[in-house]
Formats: sequence, structure tokens, C-alpha cells
Amino acid sequence: MTRNEMLIRKLSRDKVLSLEEFASLIDSFTPYELSYAQSLAGDIREEIYGNKVYIRGLIELSSYCACDCLYCGIRRGNPNAKRYRLNMDDVLECCEKGYQLGFRTFVMQGGEDAFYDDDKLVELITVIKRKYPECALTLSLGERPAESYRRLYEAGADRYLLRHETADEEHYRKLHPKGEELSGRMESLRKLKETGFQVGTGFMVGSPHQDSLCLAKDMVFLSDFKPEMVGIGPFVPHHESVFRDFQSGSVELTLFMLSLIRIMLPYALIPATTSLGTVDGLGREKGICSGANVVMPNLSPLAVRKKYMLYDNKAFTGTEAAESLSLLRASMERIGFEVVTDRGDHPLKEIWQMSYSK
Ligand code: SAM
Repeated sequence: MTRNEMLIRKLSRDKVLSLEEFASLIDSFTPYELSYAQSLAGDIREEIYGNKVYIRGLIELSSYCACDCLYCGIRRGNPNAKRYRLNMDDVLECCEKGYQLGFRTFVMQGGEDAFYDDDKLVELITVIKRKYPECALTLSLGERPAESYRRLYEAGADRYLLRHETADEEHYRKLHPKGEELSGRMESLRKLKETGFQVGTGFMVGSPHQDSLCLAKDMVFLSDFKPEMVGIGPFVPHHESVFRDFQSGSVELTLFMLSLIRIMLPYALIPATTSLGTVDGLGREKGICSGANVVMPNLSPLAVRKKYMLYDNKAFTGTEAAESLSLLRASMERIGFEVVTDRGDHPLKEIWQMSYSK
């Protein structure tokens, strides 16, 4: 057994490694060790979730954003980004289409857009939950005050996705302008948990200036924070962003990180992300075979999909498109998985929520 295999087994047993151990594993894993991690992650996922793949219908609410994250195509400072906002009717149309297709989770994601104040969002959430009471509603609308999170939760939203992006303070500052701080992000994540949301966090793999120690810190943070959902995907450059000349993150490293996350957080709901599907035509399938168990096809109105361009060539057709769900089902079946019509909640959410509020 190689040293890295031993570290992977140790991770499976202890659910954490030291920063040095994570960094050395990430720096030196071989293709054989990648398949060892994938196989262990696959066994763990199978034991908890069988061969089920959960689907979430992604509704991209707004491409206006008050933030200026240097990696992002819709950041405030990009004068060429195409801006749009969906209204209540647009969103309800997406939900109806998604419901008919078999989606039982809707994810409303968007830039940090003050147009959607708490009153507007509460109304939107209330109407969606009244029309689709058996569906889960996930929000991904960035950092907001604790009081706002409370109102959105009380209106009926179930889950919230907010990637921490990087757990290394210095790296965070290289990816964000002054005023966007890691401490604010971490505070928001804590508030979201305290409010009662099932919380998702995550990071980009291969983002500019990232090294193995940054990724090690991400892993240690995930181990401490115990999110119900973890979204990771390769960084992909946007031609109008500050990082236009950087390369996309590596597919192999993304798959390895996915497997390590599954081994460390066996119950987590982990998407095979669109960015993984964008940099590799078989990224979705490879992600699932590395321990992921969620896919989030795009349910946004066709007319706006091109405008929510976080990075170049962002995929929104074929298996990335909600209306082509049959293609996704077939591709998952080919690798031995079944796309299910299910809310797909975290199996331990109530126990965790109780322990967190103690
Ligand atoms: N505003 C919300 C937030 O910040 O959480 C949600 C929208 S934000 C655009 C969603 C995610 O897109 C970010 O968390 C980031 O990790 C990812 N993203 C943005 N630009 C990206 C890029 N160039 N490559 C890969 N992922 C990117």
C-alpha cells in the first residue's frame, strides 16, 4: 500500500487529515491513487444513497451583481455582461416546467442584486411553496444580513448554497476586491446554519493563485463546518475577467477532490457541476463516478441562459438542459445510475440541526 493510499484510508477512518497530510496527498497523487479514492468514494456513496442521482432545477434569477469577484463573468465591473432579471411569472413558468419534468427541488441562484429585497423574495418563496408544497427550495443569492436569512427561511426556503470559494485568507484577497472578505463569507455561512437551512458550500479547483495548501485548508474547513451540500468545480476563465489568461482547473484534480470529500463527508449531497461538464464533455459522468450524487440541469428561460455567463462556454444545452432530462437519464443509466424524482434531502439534517443549535 502506498503512503497516499494509507492517507486516504486514514481520511476514511478519522474524517480529517492534518493540513500537511492533505497538501502532500493533493500534490502527489497518482492515477492509480485517483482510482483508489474513486472506488472507495463510490462504495461509500452506494452504501448511503444506492445508485440514486438527485436532480435540482437551476433557475438563474438575475445576472445583476453588486460584487466584483475577479474570476466571475457577471461581476459588477464587467461593462459587457448582459443583464436581466426574472419576474414572478418567469420563475413560476420555470417551476411548472420543472415540476412536470420530475424536478422536486428548485434552486434560485443569482448575482447579489438588491432589486430582490426581502419582501420580494419572501413573496416569491411563499408563492412557490404554496404551489409546490412537496418541493424543496434552495437559494443561492450570496451574502445577506442574518435577519434576511431568517425571513427567507421562515417564508419556506429549505436550503442555501454559498461557496466559501477558498478557506485561505490571503488567497481569498487575491480572488476578490477590497471589501469582499473571507470573514464575511464565513459569518454568513454560520448564520445560515444557525437559521436552520441545509447549507451548501464549496470552492473552485484550480482558481488563480491556488496551491495545495489552499485546498488543504478547504478540506479542513469542510471537515469542521460539516455542510449538508458541497459544490466544487474547476475554475474556468472568462474572457472579460481579470483572470482571462489563466488556465481552467484540472479535471483529474477536481475528481480527486470530489472523491476525498465523499470519503470525508459520507452523507453530503455533492453535485457533478456544470463547470466540470463544461471543461470535459463527460465531466458529469466522471463526477458521479467519483462520488457525486446530484446534478443541476438548467431550468432558466432559454432567452436568458446565454446571459448568465459566469465563465466562457458555460454549458446549458444537452444534458445540462432541464428540457433534455431524457438525455441525462440515459447517460446516467449507461454508467449504472438512476435519476430519481425526489427532494433528495440530507439524511441526517434534523439531527445536525439540533446539535448545531445547542
Ligand atoms: N451570488 C451567489 C454567490 O456568490 O454565492 C451565487 C452566484 S455565483 C456566480 C455562483 C458560483 O459561481 C460562485 O460561488 C463561483 O464559485 C462560481 N463561479 C463564478 N465564476 C466562475 C468561474 N470563472 N469558474 C468557475 N466557477 C465560477
